[in-house]
Amino acid sequence: MARTLRLLGALLLAAAVWLFLAGETGWVQETASNSLGRDAALAGLLCLAAGFVAGMFGRAGRVLRRGHCVRCGAPTERGQTYCLDHLLATVEEYKMRASEGPRSPKERSGPRSTRG
Ligand SMILES: [Zn+2]
Repeated sequence: MARTLRLLGALLLAAAVWLFLAGETGWVQETASNSLGRDAALAGLLCLAAGFVAGMFGRAGRVLRRGHCVRCGAPTERGQTYCLDHLLATVEEYKMRASEGPRSPKERSGPRSTRG
């Protein structure tokens, strides 16, 4: 979107320059070319400024989103969800849950197995 705004701004500025030149050479009425050219130049500058602002915000958002731990907000490697500490903690939690998982059904089935 930022690139489109910048392109539109550049096109509007080019149109304003063309209108000013056309007014000078007499292709277009000078009063019409002046008022239209001023409007086009103003719109072009606004579009250019909006495009640059949108580009800066987009880049800043990408940098902010790229590398921060979802638990503590510490900077992470590209593509990582957790920082190293929380990655290790998450792996430990997963291992604990995985080792607890099969044991609890065995404990539940324990009294049944004493039959045989
Ligand atoms: Zn963290």
